[in-house]
Amino acid sequence: MTTVVWFKRDLRTRDHAPLAAAASLGEPVIPLYVIEEDYWQLPDTSGRQWGFIRASLEDLDRQLRKAGSGLLVMRGSMTGALKQLQASHGVTRLFCHQETGGQWTFDRDKAVVGWCAENQVEFREWSQFGVVRRLKNRNVWDKAWTELMRQPLLEAPGVIPKACGPQSGVGGYGSPAFVFPDNCPDRQTGGSARGEKLLASFLERRCVGYQYNISSPNTAPRACSRLSPHIAYGTVSLRDIYQQAKTTGNHRNTLPRKKKSLTSFRSRLHWHCHFIQKLEDEPALEFRAMHREMEALKTGPDDTERLQRWQEGQTGWPLVDASMRALKHSGWINFRMRAMLMAIASYQLWLHWRDPALHLARLFTDFEPGIHYSQTQMQSGLTGINALRIYNPVLQSQKLDPEGEFIRRWLPELAGVPGDMIHTPWLMTPTQKERYGGNTYASPVCDHEQAARLARKAVGDFRKQHVSQRETDRVLQRHGSRKGPVQKGPKAAGQRESRDDTGNSQLSLFE
Ligand SMILES: Cc1cc2nc3c(=O)[nH]c(=O)nc-3n(C[C@H](O)[C@H](O)[C@H](O)COP(=O)(O)OP(=O)(O)OC[C@H]3O[C@@H](n4cnc5c(N)ncnc54)[C@H](O)[C@@H]3O)c2cc1C
Repeated sequence: MTTVVWFKRDLRTRDHAPLAAAASLGEPVIPLYVIEEDYWQLPDTSGRQWGFIRASLEDLDRQLRKAGSGLLVMRGSMTGALKQLQASHGVTRLFCHQETGGQWTFDRDKAVVGWCAENQVEFREWSQFGVVRRLKNRNVWDKAWTELMRQPLLEAPGVIPKACGPQSGVGGYGSPAFVFPDNCPDRQTGGSARGEKLLASFLERRCVGYQYNISSPNTAPRACSRLSPHIAYGTVSLRDIYQQAKTTGNHRNTLPRKKKSLTSFRSRLHWHCHFIQKLEDEPALEFRAMHREMEALKTGPDDTERLQRWQEGQTGWPLVDASMRALKHSGWINFRMRAMLMAIASYQLWLHWRDPALHLARLFTDFEPGIHYSQTQMQSGLTGINALRIYNPVLQSQKLDPEGEFIRRWLPELAGVPGDMIHTPWLMTPTQKERYGGNTYASPVCDHEQAARLARKAVGDFRKQHVSQRETDRVLQRHGSRKGPVQKGPKAAGQRESRDDTGNSQLSLFE
């Protein structure tokens, strides 16, 4: 009788229900991770994501060994791994967490469930996020989420009975050649120990002023929790983070400002699952617009030169380029800059949403399909239920990086340009360029104000001519967050997702 605990995006031992359940049976357990080579060929995966996972696997192995059984890492497909383990160990149960990923993981999971049924292996899944399988009614979702977050945490098992037979351990897999080289010198490091340390520093000190400092790219790297890759690969459980944030926020000695910050932080943990629920309910969002009729907004091939300049941080708009280059270097950028990058690609550059979405996915160490595809579509105006958010790259720059500190750090071409000129280097005279430099920096791809006006008109006209109330109602009913019952028909046109879905409620059109 052997139980396999299949680790996927849950690389921890604390608050891990499948592991706790397997250990409690008192029979041999194989903790298993499979490096799925086909997964790493997908266009939204990258070396930086793998790098984070690899460090997390090493940390997980250390934690498991303390309890008696190390991590077995295999390579190939999950069903292939199961076949081998069936032959060598006689597997009777497979325990794991639910995963809401893209189409590939969905198909893989179906194959695994099918294999278990054919081979009389008991298959059990637990939910680790507040994402509900086969959700019938979005109105009850909030309640289910809160109940899950309030459940008691599970301690890491003290003893994990070891299975006899071959176990390769973590050291055996080397550096997989199928993951493309990805230079990301400032990438965050994986592992539960790192995640817990980050959480502690955030709750003790860094969270003060969270709401005020998360928008500027200068203050955000320290003010934000930076827990996103740890949440995405499950090195710390979301419930653990939620409960610790709540306890700190409720403590009688906690100052009101810090309490407010932690309330705001907790609401983002809620959005995390709210967005993943969208992909869970409609897996096709990975490939096509949430509001299906909006998919026809852009036809014809994309302008490859524009796409390339955006990808390389060479649009000629300093804050946009600095954000892209900073993201390439570190694998992380704050919400506001992510939203701006996506919106600039979709509106001013008028690119189809999917290529920019895939490019950003590869650059994010914290890539989480449910959040990512919903957010990229939202920032591209494709949901039909959110206000259009067209960013003005100059106003954003003046507001969020007034002295040009962030821009100078990432754009060496503009290192000598003073603060009042750095947001619009194309307006510098030849003499000013001679004096301050900036000659080698790209000219803007286009006139951003005119491009924004054209984009807004094109989207507005398209909505008027091609978008039906029926489809808008469907999207709202299926995916909208709830502040009260969803209204159908003409009233729904004015009803949008609640503001907190955007994460930038201060922002107005054309800001
Ligand atoms: C175009 C675009 C793509 C994005 N893609 C991803 C992605 O692939 N993976 C990802 O984790 N986040 C994504 N986000 C959401 C958000 O930008 C990041 O979660 C956040 O910047 C991560 O930093 P942090 O952990 O310090 O965040 P904090 O502000 O400390 O928030 C804590 C946690 O709450 C969740 N969260 C925060 N903001 C949001 C949000 N707006 N929507 C949903 N969940 C949120 C995340 O899990 C985050 O780790 C995307 C946003 C945009 C605009």
